[in-house]
Amino acid sequence: MTYKNFTLGPNEEGIVVVTWDMPDRSMNVFTEEVMGEIDAMVDAFAADESVKGVVFTSGKAGSFTGGADLKMLRGMFDAFEAKRREDKDAAVAELFTRCGEMGRIWRKLETSGKPYVAAINGTCMGGGFELALACHGRVAADSAKMGLPEVKVGIFPGAGGTQRVPRLTDTQSALQMLLKGETLSAAKAKGMKLIDEVVPADQLVEKAKDMLRAGLKPVKAWDEKGFKLPSGPVYSPAGAQVWPAVASLYRKETSDNYPGARAIVKCVYEGLLLPIDQALKVEQRYFTEVLQTTEAAMMIRSLFVSMQALNKGARRPKDVGPTELGKIAVIGAGFMGAGIAHVAAKAGLSVVLLDRDQEAADKGRAHSATVMEGLVKKGRATKEEAEALLSRITATPDYAALGDVDLVVEAVFEDRKVKAEVTKRAAEAMKPGAIFASNTSTIPITSLAESFPDPQRFIGIHFFSPVEKMMLTEIIMGEETGSQALATALDFVRAIKKTPIVVNDTRGFFANRCVLRYMSEAYDMLIEGVPAAMIENAARGAGMPVGPLALNDEVAIDLSQKIMRATIADLGEAAVDAGHLKLVDALVAEGRIGRKGGKGFYDYPEKPAKKHLWPGLKNLFPQKRPEEVDFTELKQRFLVTMALEAARTMEEGVVTDPREADVGSILGFGYAPYTGGTISYIDGMGVKTFVALCETLEAKHGERFRPTPLLREMAERGESFYSRFGAAALVEAA
Ligand code: NAD
Repeated sequence: MTYKNFTLGPNEEGIVVVTWDMPDRSMNVFTEEVMGEIDAMVDAFAADESVKGVVFTSGKAGSFTGGADLKMLRGMFDAFEAKRREDKDAAVAELFTRCGEMGRIWRKLETSGKPYVAAINGTCMGGGFELALACHGRVAADSAKMGLPEVKVGIFPGAGGTQRVPRLTDTQSALQMLLKGETLSAAKAKGMKLIDEVVPADQLVEKAKDMLRAGLKPVKAWDEKGFKLPSGPVYSPAGAQVWPAVASLYRKETSDNYPGARAIVKCVYEGLLLPIDQALKVEQRYFTEVLQTTEAAMMIRSLFVSMQALNKGARRPKDVGPTELGKIAVIGAGFMGAGIAHVAAKAGLSVVLLDRDQEAADKGRAHSATVMEGLVKKGRATKEEAEALLSRITATPDYAALGDVDLVVEAVFEDRKVKAEVTKRAAEAMKPGAIFASNTSTIPITSLAESFPDPQRFIGIHFFSPVEKMMLTEIIMGEETGSQALATALDFVRAIKKTPIVVNDTRGFFANRCVLRYMSEAYDMLIEGVPAAMIENAARGAGMPVGPLALNDEVAIDLSQKIMRATIADLGEAAVDAGHLKLVDALVAEGRIGRKGGKGFYDYPEKPAKKHLWPGLKNLFPQKRPEEVDFTELKQRFLVTMALEAARTMEEGVVTDPREADVGSILGFGYAPYTGGTISYIDGMGVKTFVALCETLEAKHGERFRPTPLLREMAERGESFYSRFGAAALVEAA
């Protein structure tokens, strides 16, 4: 028998090596065709007397599989949606069957009577790792990485993952891994007993064959009599230790916002009480339920579909051919510049790192040396890799070094004059056609472009700090920015593996505008007398990773003061809330400038003591008693004020594609990921409901919650942002 996506080696010693290698794809993914072929293969091997065992591996260098195919998942959603309109019960029944398909095949493989060994040669995620877990033995290359990341996109491993993991490893580690969607190194997976052997890649298949030669049993431990769970039964003294702690860990980590995470806990708890086949049915039932939640739909759309589309260049102008980015330059080797140079060198680009003098430039390069030293110490990079990366960064004060670069990224002081001078000098040294990008966070790109001879080649690339960690970049289009500059900027961002959103040139661009609303809502709450701890807890309960006061300390309170003053200077007194300025002035006057100064809204005692809210905050405003505060409303205020600001940016044309507002809000400022982002938060509840919520908040808290004219119009017409702004974009991505 021949297969399209698999090649079968000769039957030697009764062992067949199956190599998964999809034609015309750089990575193996699960499609309906692939699953059908595995299904047929398992039957064929089961019926073939001459086959004593099977090794399952991949033909793609460094990767086993990335998991499910987007199109398959989308097809499942679309079919469900279409059918639901006609007959809800039938639609759910069909979804239940489709959701169980992968799990059914893996279980058949597990009980087919033939032993299977997964030879994991590289990245093995999601359904692929679940396939490996269904095999009777697992060998991994030492460089392989594996995991079940589904929870990160709003769902959970629904093909046996929640049942086989806690039958192989202790309940606590299993839950931790599943709830975090953690990616494991081969060594860590072995430590957890999820993998049997770790070997160098070139010995992988031989080792897998050895396991079969040694008489690997085609029966799993949990299919044998007397099987004992690694942590003992749920209802046992050991279980009584684990489960109460799980409940509080789950609440603390998720604030009960994620149906996918909630289902993981339920699946593991209920599943461990049952024999495996029934347990797998429980998993299938919860999986079907979770797939129908708004959270799953929104998270899959934003964090999977849209993010991939943006990463692949959904916004790249089609008329510009690929750019050859060999060498780039970064001017300003400070906090941001050093980070940008590092990520570029890490991506294999040659980087000129230029500053005022050699010493300042060297200091920026030294940042990379420190980062790499740390990685080498932790065993996450080799010495050779560190040396190679550093050799790609040339530190210099000499503008002549810009002569052969394709792109310059400017990250000098946030000062118009300094930027103008640097831009002029760079322009004189750059080759014709090269692109100039500024990393400014506040100065309009259109005005900075005036210092550059050809504003078409001038663009903004706004990074977030810390550069190494933050995955978002805002690409800012000046009025005259041309398509070559946009294409080059997007190609650069793609090369350094960050996610771009394209934003038109306005004050605060997109992310900072929304974040300012987050912090200013917290100021209002403080002024109303809401206890600071409630403010921080409400924000985290709403799904924000960092409370607004803690965030303000990170950003620096004197910076907030500076931004407010600059806004007043540009737009007049009315542009800033007087109460907010008074609050910030009072803190700065006390030396409470934020984390960098050791005190802000929080106090930062010497380690290992933890930061704690400054008790003096209580004395600034008459305090409400906790029972006088509507905690649910606090959470809504945070989410609504940021979503409303995002809606304004779309109405103003600052952001033109709802996918960018959504992805940008999650990656840029951690906007409650379970909502799918600021715009999906609105669409998820429906524009009409959102407008009504805004009106309620406006009546209590003032004009800042007033729905915009566009929102009202959309509510009347029954439109959503994705239908109004996104239809074309989504068709294009299909
Ligand atoms: P920084 O002060 O750490 O670094 C600025 C660097 O520019 C210094 O190394 C300085 O020596 C150098 N420099 C100053 N004048 C120069 C000149 N004439 N020629 C060459 N080099 C010169 O500042 P930063 O925080 O890295 O910010 C840099 C830029 O990035 C600013 O425009 C800022 O708004 C923007 N930005 C900052 C952040 C952030 O969180 N810090 C985030 C996004 C964007």
